[in-house]
Amino acid sequence: MGVIDLRSDTVTKPSSAMRTTMANAEVGDDVYGEDPTINRLESLAAEMLGKEASLFAPSGTQTNLLALLTHCERGDEYIVGQQAHTYKFEGGGAAVLGSIQPQPLDFEEDGTLLLDKVAQVIKPDDFHFANTRLLCLENTQAGKALPMEYLQNSAEFARDHQIKLHLDGARIFNAAVERNVSVEAIAKNFDSVSICLSKGLGAPVGSLLCGSKDQISKARRWRKMLGGGMRQAGILAAGCIYALENNIDRLAEDHDKAARLASGLNGIQQTNMVFLRVGKVGEELLPAFLKDRGILISAGETIRFVTHMDIRERDIDTVIVTIEEFFSKMQS
Ligand SMILES: *Cc1c(COP(=O)(O)O)cnc(C)c1O
Repeated sequence: MGVIDLRSDTVTKPSSAMRTTMANAEVGDDVYGEDPTINRLESLAAEMLGKEASLFAPSGTQTNLLALLTHCERGDEYIVGQQAHTYKFEGGGAAVLGSIQPQPLDFEEDGTLLLDKVAQVIKPDDFHFANTRLLCLENTQAGKALPMEYLQNSAEFARDHQIKLHLDGARIFNAAVERNVSVEAIAKNFDSVSICLSKGLGAPVGSLLCGSKDQISKARRWRKMLGGGMRQAGILAAGCIYALENNIDRLAEDHDKAARLASGLNGIQQTNMVFLRVGKVGEELLPAFLKDRGILISAGETIRFVTHMDIRERDIDTVIVTIEEFFSKMQS
């Protein structure tokens, strides 16, 4: 019996068709700019997002860090969500490697940062303060696709306040599918966007930072310094091209599976994620109970289930039945 892994959409394995294109990829030394497959991926991503250029990197942590390092200098500040990946889940890279100060703010219920609150923490031009340079948003944020109008308002806001706007778009494709818009329609509001191919799109490795030519050439220097300059990595890029060409529209199926799971469990669905409050007992006992039955989840008082291409519809039914079994045992 196969394991049903709902911990994250990062757990997807490359399909055999993807592996075949990877195995046959034309490659060269990318540090010399000579990997034709990486060059093709960088043009494709830039074009899809409507940006001048893009840069391939091993992870979204690195592309977000590259954005911070290119928009901000030592002693500058970025405004970011308290629960944002770029603040909470990237090892403090901005501070450690960029001497960049974060100004975190709580996300609103809908995954936005309230622009009135952002305005209040933008520092005046005074030598007591760090220079506020950048606002970072996340889309999707905990599965929530941000409202399109909010993105436009944020772009205007950033222009008015003369700060840059970066999007952590690790799951921008889920947001685009949910809102029924192109990724370009989302990306056009931002100076730069980081995208991940290794999540719901199913590539094994790879992220891109998309932005202006000038920013991307600065990012290329930082990427080398961070050790992200890879050689014949066209093998990886081929998986990413395959993902962009074949796996975007099918994200709707992941959202449907999440909806089915949410209705079966009485949970809350946001794109490809389902959130379910299981309380203290559930936090302690449910993960092991499910693991014994071939189902993997991350522990928490509120559990996040993530659907993806390696989860079948009948797996969803198995999960619902098994969790029902757990709670009826708990009650008896
Ligand atoms: C996964 C993720 C990233 C990047 O993670 P890596 O594992 O470094 O590729 C960035 N932001 C968000 C919101 C993510 O979920």
